[in-house]
Amino acid sequence: MNSKQSKILIVDDSEINTMLLAGLLEDEHKIVTASNGEQGIEQAVNEAPDLILLDVTMPGMDGYMVCDELKTNVQTRNIPIIFVTAMDEMEDEARGLELGAIDYITKPFSPQIVKARVRNHLELKLFRDRLMKLSMVDGLTSIPNRRQFDRAINQEWQRGIRKKTAVSLLLLDIDFFKQYNDIYGHLKGDDCLKQVASGFTNQLHRPTDLVARYGGEEFVVILPETELDGAQHVAQRIIKHMVKLNIEHKGSKVCPYVTNSIGIVCSVPTLDCRVEDFIEQADKALYKAKQTGRNRYCIAGA
Ligand code: GH3
Ligand code: MG
Ligand code: MG
Repeated sequence: MNSKQSKILIVDDSEINTMLLAGLLEDEHKIVTASNGEQGIEQAVNEAPDLILLDVTMPGMDGYMVCDELKTNVQTRNIPIIFVTAMDEMEDEARGLELGAIDYITKPFSPQIVKARVRNHLELKLFRDRLMKLSMVDGLTSIPNRRQFDRAINQEWQRGIRKKTAVSLLLLDIDFFKQYNDIYGHLKGDDCLKQVASGFTNQLHRPTDLVARYGGEEFVVILPETELDGAQHVAQRIIKHMVKLNIEHKGSKVCPYVTNSIGIVCSVPTLDCRVEDFIEQADKALYKAKQTGRNRYCIAGA
């Protein structure tokens, strides 16, 4: 039994072709279909297929136009496209490949070749997806890494501009962590970072909130559509919870357990504010939290 994990979108104006291809592939894959270019684009966005089989010759929007549009949309540009074309239309093979298609299948189909090509390209796609995921996760703590944070904050910044809603950011830094490593050793230090990371993650309740490892013993939390009082609430909760983790720290000058300091910034993004300056403000607030005693939060501009 196959679990039909991968989804294939067939875009073809000929019902017979669609049925033939679907018939070849439906035992092993989940099939969705579209009978013209516009519908194909809509299905690609809504269904997020793992692979698209795209007919070249269609009335209205042809396969090249569909491919071009799919490759310029961030939501669909990573979906591999295989062009399906008749032998006598092959003179334009280079054009399709230049537009970003990965392969061609020619009509009349050879069932074995269709199946084999589809299987190979799906395998590559799954492998790429896995690599992409790995490249977004911090190796030590298994939470999102700096790269994922950079992506997410830029997206939230843009969304904030469009929707005119506030974005809050917390920059967190473990207190006296150098001393922690000096006293307990680097391996214990690593364990501490893991515990702290999962502790932070547990303190976030909305699915859109994101905690990432910013670097070393610094973490960052994005709270989309969150005003300052909400951000303060989360910061307070994190500080309280951190002490409750009961990670002994003999070298800390502020508490017998590991603590952290937090810089908070909150603003409604506009086109003339840079996201880098927003992050910089959180950094300044964090510095102030360190200067004024640690194990606390400070708010940018306050
Ligand atoms: P402060 O309270 O002012 O933040 O002091 P601190 O000692 O925490 O800050 P400092 O920036 O001087 O030291 C950070 C330490 O974090 C130094 C480094 O050894 C440690 N560190 C950074 N990344 C890792 C890591 O991946 N594993 C371990 N074990 N330690 C790390
Ligand atoms: Mg630091
Ligand atoms: Mg520190």
